[in-house]
Amino acid sequence: MIGIFGGTFDPIHYGHLRCALEIAEQLELREVRMLPCGQPPHRGAPIASAAQRRHALKLALAGQSLLRLDTRELERAGPSYMVDTLASIRAEIGQGSLCLILGQDAFNGLTSWHRWEQLTELAHLVVITRPGVEPPETGPLAALVETCSVESLDELRARPAGAILFRTVTALGFSASGIREQLACGLSPRYLLPDAVLDYLVQEGVYRNLN
Ligand code: ATP
Repeated sequence: MIGIFGGTFDPIHYGHLRCALEIAEQLELREVRMLPCGQPPHRGAPIASAAQRRHALKLALAGQSLLRLDTRELERAGPSYMVDTLASIRAEIGQGSLCLILGQDAFNGLTSWHRWEQLTELAHLVVITRPGVEPPETGPLAALVETCSVESLDELRARPAGAILFRTVTALGFSASGIREQLACGLSPRYLLPDAVLDYLVQEGVYRNLN
């Protein structure tokens, strides 16, 4: 089984990295592909350029093999629809199990994703509970959970796609927007992201003039 962890990564931080690593270990994944979004369909363009986000990810992932950078969305023109990304990965891996890892906050907004009903035809969803974010109790996502929710890894391994598994990882309650804000205010976000990433961002002055 392989995992897909998508995000704007503006910038990548330990919340993303810990989550990806813990899920890789919990689910015994062969690898997790860290997939920076090229043009986010649901939010404004990232502050850091594609090249800067790609380089920061390379620095963050250096020296370990379980988390791997996948830049296909940066290389594709147009909005980065996850359904297209999963279809292109599915074409490469055949019938192997594929797990799309996403935070509860991202899952709760799933019905606004392009062709969202097809996501579970292409991959399993592994939803990470996040502090202060509750799962939907009614509506199409609650119905999807009702139909697809599973409890065990064997149920993920048994088929290529279509199940939803909820998992908890070490709660690190910070976000990329908080880090951007700190850098813009001249505060240090050190210890929230790898030193090499922070040093690179400061050297590039990426988030310096936000305010
Ligand atoms: P922003 O503050 O700019 O919205 P973010 O830190 O939430 O950014 P994204 O790149 O938008 O990061 O998120 C990518 C994925 O990482 C999403 O599925 C999100 O739920 C998850 N994620 C973000 N922060 C954390 C965290 N601290 N712990 C676990 N997962 C996280």
